[in-house]
Amino acid sequence: MRVLVTGGAGYIGSHTIVELVAKGHDVCIVDTFRNSSPEVLNRLEEITGVRPLLHKVDVRDRAGMKTVMESYKPEAVIHFAGLKAVGESAEIPLEYYDVNVQGTVVLLETMQAVGCKTVVFSSSATVYGAPQYLPYDEAHPCAPSNVYGQTKHMAEQILTDWQLANPDSSVVLLRYFNPVGAHSSGRMGEDPDGPPNNLMPFVAQVAVGRREKLAVFGDDYDTPDGTGVRDYIHVTDLARAHISALDYGVKQAGTDVFNIGTGTGYSVLDMIKAFSKASGREIAYEVAPRRVGDLASYYANPAKAGTVLGWSAERGIEDICTSTWKWQSDNPRGYGA
Ligand code: NAD
Ligand code: UDP
Repeated sequence: MRVLVTGGAGYIGSHTIVELVAKGHDVCIVDTFRNSSPEVLNRLEEITGVRPLLHKVDVRDRAGMKTVMESYKPEAVIHFAGLKAVGESAEIPLEYYDVNVQGTVVLLETMQAVGCKTVVFSSSATVYGAPQYLPYDEAHPCAPSNVYGQTKHMAEQILTDWQLANPDSSVVLLRYFNPVGAHSSGRMGEDPDGPPNNLMPFVAQVAVGRREKLAVFGDDYDTPDGTGVRDYIHVTDLARAHISALDYGVKQAGTDVFNIGTGTGYSVLDMIKAFSKASGREIAYEVAPRRVGDLASYYANPAKAGTVLGWSAERGIEDICTSTWKWQSDNPRGYGA
């Protein structure tokens, strides 16, 4: 199948392309490299033996997207392109609404113009907001508590309404929990620009000597060891979920939504310990005040993805830490090395 992958040069998109090519799909990337490196194309070619087609086009660029759609004629789209930093989303909200919401509108308009009917969308567990119960299932009410979460929730609604107006189309919304880990080759991984906002890239940079110590944001939460608990999902498992979602989406019309997580939560201290073991390095840390807006604990009920998509996570935190360490130690400066 011809699959257009917006944001395909990014962290999750690039790992998904490896799985798509392994399944025999033809892939075309749309990416501006706003938060990624063209070096990813070389790494993808190394791993898969195929250099994906690339269009350096902004998803908000209607004319550019129309040209891409008309030349590639995708049979399905996986829509990763977007901005994802919660803190930044409060500082530049209009940019977040423009890229994440308006970008989705333009994508759907231009898909429709060429009769492309299947789309898999990168949503986030952030759409749920503060847990009314745990684990979150897909029926948990959505009440996002930050701008980033709002943009994902709005995009979900737009996709759902588009599907209703186009009854033979198919929308699969994937709500990711905490994507971490790297490709087993050590050739691809997460390469944040500047100091990492997320836990695992920060831990990896401390281990490799790029940063002095980790700040653990709060140790007085109502969790087993007082630190925040999250559901960390290996990026290769997450990539596989997109293949399952695509297979499901092309078979039937409608909108469906799935949590993509492991169902198990680990604390910040659990992750530090596991990473220390995998890397053989001590991870220096100090306890710092809570980060504004952080939730104590959340994790997925991924049962629906198991039953309906036939997908479940296969990799645990050892694999997450080992692969992250291989990527970080082989590429201490990420793709910029
Ligand atoms: P990423 O930043 O690595 O990848 C996003 C890609 O989109 C980048 O290559 C970037 O250059 C590109 N991009 C950004 N704006 C663009 C635009 N206007 N036009 C074209 N390309 C553009 O992020 P990621 O971690 O791979 O996340 C992929 C998707 O998954 C995002 O939509 C994100 O919101 C969502 N998501 C990520 C996480 C996470 O923790 N990583 C969790 C839940 C959901
Ligand atoms: N965290 C931390 N120090 C950091 C980054 C994150 O202690 O430098 C904690 C954070 O408070 C949360 C967990 O690690 O409990 C996961 O944070 P991350 O930003 O990776 O994911 P999110 O909070 O968006 O789920």
